[in-house]
Amino acid sequence: MIDKMKKILHVVGARPNFMKLRPVYENLSKYTDMKQIIVHTGQHFDYNMSGVFFEQLGLPKPDINLEINGGTVLNQIGNGILKIEKVLSDFIPDLVCIYGDVNATSFTSIAASKLGFKIAHIEAGLRSFDKTMPEETNRIIADCLSDYLFTPSIDGDYNLTKEGKSPEQIFFVGNVMIDSLIELMPKSKIVKFKFDIPEIFALVTLHRPSNVDDYNNLLGIIIYLEEIGKECKIIFPIHPRTKAKIEFKLNSTFKNIIFVDPLSYLEFIFLEKNARFIITDSGGVQEESTFLGTPCFTLRDNTERPITVTKGTNILVGSDINKLKIQMDIFFKGLVKKGRIPDLWDGKAGSRIAKIISEIL
Ligand code: UDP
Repeated sequence: MIDKMKKILHVVGARPNFMKLRPVYENLSKYTDMKQIIVHTGQHFDYNMSGVFFEQLGLPKPDINLEINGGTVLNQIGNGILKIEKVLSDFIPDLVCIYGDVNATSFTSIAASKLGFKIAHIEAGLRSFDKTMPEETNRIIADCLSDYLFTPSIDGDYNLTKEGKSPEQIFFVGNVMIDSLIELMPKSKIVKFKFDIPEIFALVTLHRPSNVDDYNNLLGIIIYLEEIGKECKIIFPIHPRTKAKIEFKLNSTFKNIIFVDPLSYLEFIFLEKNARFIITDSGGVQEESTFLGTPCFTLRDNTERPITVTKGTNILVGSDINKLKIQMDIFFKGLVKKGRIPDLWDGKAGSRIAKIISEIL
């Protein structure tokens, strides 16, 4: 019996991968002829950036931990290729599933493609058209080398078609991240916080190099957030990359911002739903706020998720803090952007992917 099982290897490495893995893993589990294993490459390995997500998402512990963290990006990618080569050669998967746009997504595609394994990229086709963004090259490499491309929105299909991918490889299945959000949202209502939540608050997340790597730029953003906080208190879960850049005292200097460690998924989605508005540079948060109908201001010059702007509640502000000031003035005057939910963000993307994979294999 075991010989007839189709072997699927999922490779994940960082926080935004875990909520994308869950719907695919869970739906494939319903097919009794599939054996699945999870490889965690270890870009994020702290409990609050990794372990808590596996617990809350109901995912099994990863079968293999590659512990690739620290060092330069190229150290991680080079090391990753070598380590994943061994896993691939030992397991001989029928399909390798890669997710999103992290380093593990690109180095796994390189190794799997060189060894001749079939690759499925979940969340394919997104493009910011900005190669200075580290994730953009991961997206391009992964899509270029993948055999099956599962897109979350129709712009992904256009981008892939323009890049020469054939229609038979592209599957518009909807957004797996929204599957997890829909499934887990009821549980978020009973979550206990370690800090007091103001009745009215805004939520902020920032971790992209363009916002946080320059100390003065980051300080300028936080000083302005403190200003906004006088009108509406701010909860700011600090990503490790951002925390590493901060030299000033947080909770004692800024009275209107509640700085906290990265939150668990259930805590975070509760806040996303109940926030008066969100300021972010996260890809996933742009999507989740669009689904939840929460106004979102994105502190970036471009987005790989344009549908959140054209259909959703997202406003692409730019990276200049003065532009945020203009948008905030408009918002506080009561002019709030309304949005609608993009097509196929319906909680069923994972089951569509599983069905297609079962047919392919
Ligand atoms: N998230 C979380 N806790 C936090 C911040 C974000 O659980 O403190 C979740 C969020 O709901 C979304 C994902 O992490 O599902 C987004 O990850 P991140 O912003 O790190 O990456 P990006 O989407 O920008 O690649």
